[in-house]
Amino acid sequence: MMSHVARLTCVCCHAVYPTDGPWTCPACGPDDGVLDVELDLEAVRKTMNRDALAGRVRSHWRYRELLPVDTPHPLPADVGWTPLIDAPRLAKELGVRRVRLKDDGRNPSGSFKDRPSSVAVNHAIERGATTVACASTGNAASSLAGCAAAAGLRCAIFVSQLVPDAKLAQLLAYGACVFKIRGTYADAYDLCTQSCERFGWYNRNAGANPYLVEGKKTGGLEVAEQCAEDPPDWVACSVGDGCSIAAVHKGLAQMREIGLIDWQARVLGVQAAAVSPVLRAFATGKLDRSGKSGTYADSIDVPIPRNWRKAIHAVRASGGDFVAVADEQIMHAVRTTGRLTGVFAEPAAGAAIAGVVEARARGLLGASSDVVIMITGNGLKDVGGAMRAVGEPHEIEPRFEEVVRAVEAGRLDSSSNL
Ligand SMILES: [Zn+2]
Repeated sequence: MMSHVARLTCVCCHAVYPTDGPWTCPACGPDDGVLDVELDLEAVRKTMNRDALAGRVRSHWRYRELLPVDTPHPLPADVGWTPLIDAPRLAKELGVRRVRLKDDGRNPSGSFKDRPSSVAVNHAIERGATTVACASTGNAASSLAGCAAAAGLRCAIFVSQLVPDAKLAQLLAYGACVFKIRGTYADAYDLCTQSCERFGWYNRNAGANPYLVEGKKTGGLEVAEQCAEDPPDWVACSVGDGCSIAAVHKGLAQMREIGLIDWQARVLGVQAAAVSPVLRAFATGKLDRSGKSGTYADSIDVPIPRNWRKAIHAVRASGGDFVAVADEQIMHAVRTTGRLTGVFAEPAAGAAIAGVVEARARGLLGASSDVVIMITGNGLKDVGGAMRAVGEPHEIEPRFEEVVRAVEAGRLDSSSNL
């Protein structure tokens, strides 16, 4: 089967490019000329319907007509079809009628980023690449390394010297070649770009590769299918680069366009208060490139986002809004969610939960609201960050009366270990 990709359109000047054309708009340049992949949805509609989906594989390849790959090669540890978890006690705590958590921490490498990395690895194979590369210290890199290992491709990762050991461990365990650059993230990004050009490696950087959104949108496709008969009012997602929230909206919108759902949900974009250029661009229409990094939620610590236009278009098209949350609110959300649901969220996912609290306080959401929250990564991805949020154990002498004293003092019923 050939993919249904029809053309690519520049999000800045709206120029149209063929599928074998450039990955960014030459007229607008690499910073502004981000392209959007457009599909022939008429053709998709002919084979993708509820009956067909009912019998399909429980991974994100069930939406193969909507993915930019001719013949998918699903990986051994496959990606997607993560659970949607009803969380009534968290809903009560957040002051809304219903909360469901889309737990993408269940993906093979522990994050939402397995969706685009899995599609990228397939796209790379179809283009004849034997090596994939990216510049990242976070979930994008570890997911690419894991998917490349599963597919038997070589993988090169460029990181700055500030990379924490915990993040290196996952990359190295998957057998990636990790270049630790004695420089900044920008240096790592440039070296990755030059290497892809020189050696013909497949470039998995969200600023340069328009096909990653197509993998990420399967998060939205799944929310649409899992909520088909029982739609939410809002879908909340944290925002760093802007690529993921745009993709979640794109998935929801495409399921509506092909007739698999008949509802729309508003999209709530959540940024960290300390690093919120997309929120400000939503208000002003312009990106301020002068900001600095500095939030605890490192997956969304992106002072110069590349996909900000896609993000604000998506939120506006859905009738949604943006909110910002302080790091303290994010930490509170991580421990509240863990305690009330059994889901251990990474800080960036905690931001999405804190965003629901903020939106409720601002009156965007009401007591009757029904919200899906995207849990973009597992808390084990950032144990150091988690430890800052969750408090301390009760250190005691090895004497039973100390246990008794703690129990009688109500330690088991306390809602916090802080
Ligand atoms: Zn352009």
